[in-house]
Amino acid sequence: MSEPLHSLGDPREYAGGVSVRVLRAGWFRPDAGGFFGVVPKPMWSRLVETDDRGRLTCRLNLLLVEVGGKRILVETGTGVRMTDKDRDIKGVEGGDPAEALRSVGEDPERIDFVVVSHLHYDHAGGMLGADGRPAFPNARYVIQRDEAEAAHGDELRLQGVMEVEQLDAVRAAGQLAEVNGEVELVDGVRVIRTGGHTRGSQAILLGAERARGRAGDPNDRAIFWGDLIPTRWQIPVRWTSAYDDYPIDAIEVRNELVARAASEGWWCYFTHDPGALPIRIEATDKGYRATE
Ligand SMILES: [Zn+2]
Repeated sequence: MSEPLHSLGDPREYAGGVSVRVLRAGWFRPDAGGFFGVVPKPMWSRLVETDDRGRLTCRLNLLLVEVGGKRILVETGTGVRMTDKDRDIKGVEGGDPAEALRSVGEDPERIDFVVVSHLHYDHAGGMLGADGRPAFPNARYVIQRDEAEAAHGDELRLQGVMEVEQLDAVRAAGQLAEVNGEVELVDGVRVIRTGGHTRGSQAILLGAERARGRAGDPNDRAIFWGDLIPTRWQIPVRWTSAYDDYPIDAIEVRNELVARAASEGWWCYFTHDPGALPIRIEATDKGYRATE
C-alpha cells in the first residue's frame, strides 16, 4: 500500500460546531465470504477485489470529534494485544489508536470520551495499552449496557469473541460510562443503540438537531455506522454479514436509518471503508447507493 499507515483527515464541520476528522489507524483484512455473509460472490465481487487469501483490504477508521472544548475518539481499532498469529490471519497492520494519534501530533491524554461501537476485537481491542491500563487515561469509555451484558453472558457464539478483559479493566479503572439507548454525550454528539450487528451495537450521530440545511452548509449532520454498515459496499440494507449476530434486527434498523440518512442528507462515515470519507447515500429505483 502506498497510503500511509496512519493519517488524520481534514476537519469537516457539522451543525452546532461539531468538527470531525477521520483518523486512519491501520489496515485489516477480513475474510470476504464472512464479511458479505448471505450475499453471493458474483454480486459483491463486482464492487471489490480480494487478495490471494480471499480477504478484503479494509481500513481501521477512527473519528476524532471536537466540540465545545471536548475531544471524542470514536473506536479504538485492534490495539496491541493480539497474537502474531491472529494479526497474520486477519491481516492487521498498525491498529494501535494511541500510536495513530501521536503519529499525527495528537495527545491520547487529551481525549475526554472514547466511544466504542461494540466489543469486537477490531473496535474495542485498543481500549487498553500494552501495559494493561486504559490507553486513554483521562477518558470515559462509552459503551451500551446491553453490549457489556452480552459480553459477560453465556451465549456460546460470543465466547472468546468479545473484549471482556479490556471491558473489565476499563470498569476497574473507574472509566466505564455504560449508557442505555440514545444519549447525548455533549451538545451535537449522540450515541444511539442500534443492536443488529451485536446486541448492544451503537452508532454515533454528529451535528446538532436543527432544520436541515442545503448541502455543504453548517446545518449538516453525519452518522458513524459502526459495523451496522462497515463499508460503502454494504449499503443495500439486506446485505447481512456473517458477523451480524441479529440479522433480522440489523436489516430493520439499517432500513430505518438509511432511509433517514438518504432523505435528510446525512454524511456517512464507515469504520472499515478504504475510500475517501464522508459520502452520502441516495435513494434510487434500484435501492440505496453511495453518492459523492
Ligand atoms: Zn468491525
